[in-house]
Amino acid sequence: MTASFDRSAERIRQASRVLPGGVSSNFRLGISPTPLVFDHAEGPFLHDVDGNRLIDYYLGMGPMVLGHRPEGVIDAVRRQLERGILFGGQSEVEFEAAEHLCSMIPSAEKVRFSSSGTEAVQAALRLARAATGRETIVKFEGHYHGWLDSVLWSVAPPPDRMGSERAPVPQPGTAGQDGHAGERVEVLSWNRLALVEERLSRGDVAAVIMEPAMCNTGAILPAAGYLEGVRAACSRFGTVLIFDEVITGFRVAPGGTQQRLGVTPDLTIFGKAVASGFPVAGLAGASALMDEFATGRRVMHGGTYNAQSVAMAATVATLKALKAPGTYDVLARQGTRLKDGVAAALRAAGITATVTGFPEIFHVGYGLSEPAQNYRDIIGTDRAAYVGLTTALLAHGVRVLERGAWFISTTHDDDVVDETLHALQRALATL
Ligand code: PMP
Repeated sequence: MTASFDRSAERIRQASRVLPGGVSSNFRLGISPTPLVFDHAEGPFLHDVDGNRLIDYYLGMGPMVLGHRPEGVIDAVRRQLERGILFGGQSEVEFEAAEHLCSMIPSAEKVRFSSSGTEAVQAALRLARAATGRETIVKFEGHYHGWLDSVLWSVAPPPDRMGSERAPVPQPGTAGQDGHAGERVEVLSWNRLALVEERLSRGDVAAVIMEPAMCNTGAILPAAGYLEGVRAACSRFGTVLIFDEVITGFRVAPGGTQQRLGVTPDLTIFGKAVASGFPVAGLAGASALMDEFATGRRVMHGGTYNAQSVAMAATVATLKALKAPGTYDVLARQGTRLKDGVAAALRAAGITATVTGFPEIFHVGYGLSEPAQNYRDIIGTDRAAYVGLTTALLAHGVRVLERGAWFISTTHDDDVVDETLHALQRALATL
């Protein structure tokens, strides 16, 4: 028996009367066979309004690294609720969260909290511009840094309009975007060191911002020496290096990609897995930069909900759980079983595909015979065929992002991974 999603489809239709498209984020639109409506979740499982139990590899788009409803986090949040929610001032739990972050993220001497990755990115760009007295920001094709006008450039540029690798043409990401907001943003093809070195050598770039492992378009690791080379070029030419670790932070290592691969940026954006689904993100970096928020020019950064106490309690509890011995071994072991199993199943079915990234977050490049190096390579994937597979997987009880990577949690045990791989075999057989 395969799952049906009729009730979700009906509720989305009804909700469209009060929510555009029946959703609250455009990333939730256009999902096959329908955007889903959920009732509850626990561990690796989601339960939808049709009564289906689905093994979840979206994990809330990444945050639920400890699985759904992790006990320690729920307890900490309950306790904090009894003490108050929002103080319009500081709290001990906020300080404790900051201490944990500074002990975990290699680039972090100080942190500032925000409520979304999108906001933290804006704070980082402003800080870099203030500190350098320069305006130009370099970002990379296929990298996502939130939905605002200043950075929504060439996230998924149409191939016929993006120009050549030597002369890329930044492409806006949406109707209604302020074109002027992109005047000081330049876009490069990622994983090509010479392109960055050449551009930075002009000495006028405030910041380079990148996902240190590109996980919004595919899951692509930096080529050997690439991060080191960009780091060296930024230091040499006085440019601030920003790693956007919203996806990779706390997922691929306690200190993110920078710890796993051993390259330290000047500023780090974190979010998602830091708080098990509570809206927490932030910016971390060296004191010399971060103190610009508080001293001298006092670079502006604000937010009513920054460091909201319940979210901070969730942060502390999440980080304690992540720091516990063995947590990352579980993620690595189960991720490796799953990633290898997925690759083997696709091979056995005679499907040409690459399975790339970290075990803790990986991507299936349907139709690719060589691992992609950057956005330009990812264009070659057969998206329609992959959506065919993710739709079939959903019918067999496994929810995987259509346009993205597989996230794993500490609650995806052997049985769950085995069940997933069986479902994959059955799904492949139906195609
Ligand atoms: N940066 C990266 C790398 C992201 O993946 C995301 C969200 N997917 C963001 C920034 C924006 O974060 P938020 O959705 O919390 O605003």
